[in-house]
Parts: sequence; C-alpha cells; structure tokens
Amino acid sequence: MKESYELVIRNGDVVLPGEVLKLDIGIKGGKIAALGEDLSVSGDTRVIDAQGQYVLPGMVDMHVHFNEPALGHWEGFRSGSAALAAGGCTCYADMPLNGNPPTVNKAALQLKAEAAAGNSAVDYVLWGGLVPGNLEDLEELAAAGVTGFKAFISNPGGEGEGRFREVDDDTLYQGMKRIAALGGILALHAESEEMTSALAADAVRSGKTGAHDFAASRPPEAELEAVARALLYSERTGCRLHFVHISTAAAIEMIHAARLRGLDVTAETCPHYLVLEEKDMEALGPVAKCAPPLRSSEEREKLWKVLAEGKIDLIASDHSPCPTELKTATGLTFFEAWGGISGAQSSLELMFHEGVQVRGLPVTQISALLSERPARRFGLEQRKGSIRQGLDADLVLLDPQASYTLAAEDLFYRHQHSPYTGMNLSCKVTATICRGTVVYTAEAGVIAAGGGEWLRSSEGQPVL
Ligand code: ZN
Repeated sequence: MKESYELVIRNGDVVLPGEVLKLDIGIKGGKIAALGEDLSVSGDTRVIDAQGQYVLPGMVDMHVHFNEPALGHWEGFRSGSAALAAGGCTCYADMPLNGNPPTVNKAALQLKAEAAAGNSAVDYVLWGGLVPGNLEDLEELAAAGVTGFKAFISNPGGEGEGRFREVDDDTLYQGMKRIAALGGILALHAESEEMTSALAADAVRSGKTGAHDFAASRPPEAELEAVARALLYSERTGCRLHFVHISTAAAIEMIHAARLRGLDVTAETCPHYLVLEEKDMEALGPVAKCAPPLRSSEEREKLWKVLAEGKIDLIASDHSPCPTELKTATGLTFFEAWGGISGAQSSLELMFHEGVQVRGLPVTQISALLSERPARRFGLEQRKGSIRQGLDADLVLLDPQASYTLAAEDLFYRHQHSPYTGMNLSCKVTATICRGTVVYTAEAGVIAAGGGEWLRSSEGQPVL
C-alpha cells in the first residue's frame, strides 16, 4: 500500500544527530512521518528533489530582537521572520526589549503576542524580562507561557522612563531565587556595568571615540567579572542560567567548568564573534558595532577552538536591527551609533561556510549548535531541532556548491544593512519548510508569510 504523504523530500544528504545519510523524508500532517530509502508516493504527493543538497533541521534561533510593539519601523515580526525563513530558521525566540513597552509584565506580553500573531513566517517563542521592580510579575509571565527570562547586567541602551533597565545585584539575586522556584531559566547579558560605564566615560572625556576605543571600553574582563558573579548567584539560588552572546573563550571555559561541577548553566555565542573581528568593526563602521564588541583575531581563534572542543552549547544570531540612519547619521561617534548587528538571515550560511567548508568541522556538529541543542535547552525538543520521526517537519535545504556574494537587496530585513554584505558565501539556503509547509524558496522568496505559531511554555515543561 502506498503511503499518502503530503510532501516527500527525495535524495538529500539528511543531517541527523551524529551522522549524515542519504534518505527520503515523508511528511504528513506537518510532522516527519517517515525516514527511509525510496519512499513510495501517491499521485497527489508533492515531491522535492534534494539531490546534491544537505537537508538539515531548521535553525532554532533563541535570540532575536524584533521591535514591536511600537518600534515596528525598526524591525517587525513580518520582515524579521521573513529574513529568518530565508536563512533556514524555523523557530525563534523574541527578546523582551527594544519594543515599547518592554515585555516585563503580563499586559506587555499580551501586546507582544498580538503583534506577532498572524505575522510570523515561522514558529516562535517569547522571552519575558527581569528588571528592577518586576519581581512580582515573574510568576504571571511564566504562567502566560514565556520561555524564560532575560536580564542585562550592563545598561542595554534605549531611552525614557519605560526603557528596559539593567538589573542591580539585589534584583538579579532575588530574581534568580524566584525563577528557580518557578522552574524557569534566566538568560543573561553578562558585562560589568561598573567597568564598562567608567571606561566609556573616560574614553569619551578624552575624545577617544573610535571603534577601537569602543572595544577597549568593553574588555574581556568586563565579561569575565559578570559571568563569575552570575555563576555564584546560580550556585547559591539553584537558578538555571543561560549566558547569551559570550565573546571570549575564557568566559566559555569558566561556564563549562561550572557545568562540570554540577551547575545547570549554558553558553551561547553568535556568528559575528566567530566570523568577524575588531578590525572589521574599524573597517565597516557602526554596522558591525555590538556589545560585547568584536574581539581580536587571536580571541576569535580561541573561540573556534572551544567550539570545536564542544564547550559552546549553542549559537544564536542576536539579530539586533535599527533604522540605518541610527548608525550612519553624520556627526555620530562610534559610541553614539546604535549598537547591534543585523545578521539573522545569515547564521546558517555563515556557520556552514566558515565552520564546515573553511575549517572542516563536521556538519553534524554545526547543525547541533544551531538546532538540536537550543531546542533541548529550552524545552522544544519534542517539536523542534532534529530530523526524527514524529517531530515537526521543520527542514532546510542547503546547497553546498552554490557560492554567491551577499548583497543588500538579498536581505529581507526592514532595513537592508548587515556587516556581511559583500561577503562571498560558499553555500546557499534553497528552501525552508516549517511544519510541512514550504515557507521559502530561493526562486520564489517568502511564500507563506503568516503561519508561524507561538509555542507557549507551561511552567518549565517541554512544549508538546
Ligand atoms: Zn540581544
């Protein structure tokens, strides 16, 4: 008897946990129904031939900033998720800041969810925030389905009364106690506010306001100090902790050592710390400004080394968009320009290009960092992150021979800037499938724009 698959992907090199096999994938009801050789199809089954291409699980990007509500003219769910679909991402997490109001209570979460509903090309989860004054809101946010909480140790920028504020030590400590009691997880931007603000003030006072001066005002020690402090709090409170965008191998080693002694802590880094370096920040200008800043080439090589050793848990884009003029307006110093890298569309291609093609790492290892491990860390593993029977049919086809030069016009962001334009990439995403629906092809662009769903967590339990 012939199976009635809705879609079969034939002949691809399928990236499974730990191995790559030439297999067909049969999809039914949005799920992976079968993996096998020569799957039989009926007349109305759609067939995609993936000969010569990798079929990978869709990326699970746990760190993007879309700016709705209120700042959709920076980046909205529609444009941002279109860029993610084009880059091979099928599930993402929106951070609780850079929109207004920030997502720090249930009412604000509701506004965020309304902005996203019907506008996302792929599935998503939402973070809540931990800020001074919202300890009493954490429980309601958890009950309403946030995937975890995000806090900043250093000033996240932005203006006005309602801006997302960095935590003081007491808020961080008390917040972690409460999040631990809720069975939740805290994601943390770890840079010392005292060190970075003092160094920045010194630099600006003495007229040192270039890219190198900015980098020098946020040294590796600022990251290490904040990581050490947060690890101590995690140990004392039992709070699960995830460090976002770690930029140095020393911090990765510190987090890894903490895990070995039993703490429930993980570390993320971003493609920009692996692909770019401080010199690029000087050459490209504020389009490559981020915090922590890009590091030296020696530091970048050390980061690759700890990645190859398996000490980095996952990779996320930290897509942090803004209107171009906030980076390029005349008279802006490097310190005044908006910080944040627009990169979400390029994560998979960059990591495959640099990690697999240039540095020779196994495609299974790079894929795990982008998909399987983030899904597992954040309770999505029963739906996302791997190619396995019964999971969502979230797949991406990647042509490892299609080299191209990334142009601004290729970008689906609301504002078409990125430090990666002009770069030659040795691979290309050719199709992205979310829950069995083809949402993007390289020929047709984004096909299905609004079918993404919010995957709500419930009290720290995996999303079913
Ligand atoms: Zn971020």
